[in-house]
Amino acid sequence: MLLTNLILPGRGTTNPFDVEVSDATSKISSIKPTSTPSTTPPSRVIPTLCHPHIHLDKPFLLTAHNEGEDLPDYLDLAPKDGSFAEALTKTAEAKTRYTRADLLHRGSQLIAESIQAGVTSMRAFVEVDHVTRFICVEAGIELRRRFKEQCYVQLCVFAQDPVINDEKHGTENRELMEEALRRFRSDIDVVGSTPYVEGDEGMQRRNIEWAVEKAMEHGMHLDFHLDYNLDPSSKPMICHVIEVLKQSNWTQRAMGKAVVIGHCSRMTMFSTEETEKLAKEIHDAKLPISFVGLPTSDLFMMGRPGDGDWGGSRPRGTLQVLELIRRFKLNACIGINNVGNAFTPWGSVDPLRLASLGVGVYQAGTPQDAELLFECISALAQEAIGLEDIVVRSLEEGANALFMVVGNDETININGKDTGIPARKRLSVADMVWDPPELSQRRVVGKVNLSR
Ligand SMILES: [Zn+2]
Repeated sequence: MLLTNLILPGRGTTNPFDVEVSDATSKISSIKPTSTPSTTPPSRVIPTLCHPHIHLDKPFLLTAHNEGEDLPDYLDLAPKDGSFAEALTKTAEAKTRYTRADLLHRGSQLIAESIQAGVTSMRAFVEVDHVTRFICVEAGIELRRRFKEQCYVQLCVFAQDPVINDEKHGTENRELMEEALRRFRSDIDVVGSTPYVEGDEGMQRRNIEWAVEKAMEHGMHLDFHLDYNLDPSSKPMICHVIEVLKQSNWTQRAMGKAVVIGHCSRMTMFSTEETEKLAKEIHDAKLPISFVGLPTSDLFMMGRPGDGDWGGSRPRGTLQVLELIRRFKLNACIGINNVGNAFTPWGSVDPLRLASLGVGVYQAGTPQDAELLFECISALAQEAIGLEDIVVRSLEEGANALFMVVGNDETININGKDTGIPARKRLSVADMVWDPPELSQRRVVGKVNLSR
């Protein structure tokens, strides 16, 4: 396969190249400057994208128009007040209706739309508890196999519900999680939990200790939904996570397995000194911790007005990921989290649109900021979840071919009619982040070639 007239990463935006990919080996066999200049605009090659944090079992609940089909309906569960408490109850009710066909239906839509956007790897959360039992994991495994050449689906078996608090089925949920980890271990990479759903601080601590122990026992990565609040009186659990990882000697014993902290909006209230202290602790202990900012969910959920307050002032909180990376030298990236459910009714699965939102949210307007935001949805996201070699930053002869080509139109069409007006060209990474290209302009070349 010969691809011509391409602007390549790290080689400027003016000189196009031709790239040949071997059909037999799927490797890049040659990269040469384009010999015959083209009159059409060049296409731009960019690295493929990665979801570091996305829920596979609860997308598109609010938009599942399944009338007349043999699939459950969720439209009566549309939010009434849009609150966090309501999201928890509505989603808990939704789970009682999940069927295998339905999970495969919505899950395949999530993965297929992600692939259209250029995603070639993801950490997908599948819930286990006394209601869903193993139905989400089993659907996740089937989807992981179905899409394996186009997208590596790393499954995180996830306790969205308490695993300690027995007033909320803690023991039952915990035992089911442990059984899932044993029974499906060849298809599972990650143990995930949500300490803040437990109730009191003591139970939150025990949730963290249990998850660390299970991840080490099974040799898996670890992922927490943590400190999802803007309450200065709440005790940040990130400190306990660090403590437990140090005490359990994670760095030596977990053999390079990664730890991801999602949300963590409470950390936005840390002073400079507190953030420096936290970063130093992580660095000193060489803990492989990464933070994942989830701005579409955080903006929607955080900063709610109190009783009697009309809500004119709504201070939001979402991890300021670019500062975490640049100033505090922490590993960080951004993720979609939820789409089309009561936790996040809005948005799409497109990571480029998320990066674009980051320009405004993080007040990051330079081309270098745009490039770092792009890294946060590609290579840095992949590193955070402990993968390598799927997202590649640059094209090299002899390397496995897996990259995205973004096309450029010559002229602007309106309702199928050519206006003759020259179309804007997207040639730099900043062009992609500031105003993401339509999905129809994107194409992933190559296959995911990861043996596991
Ligand atoms: Zn999440």
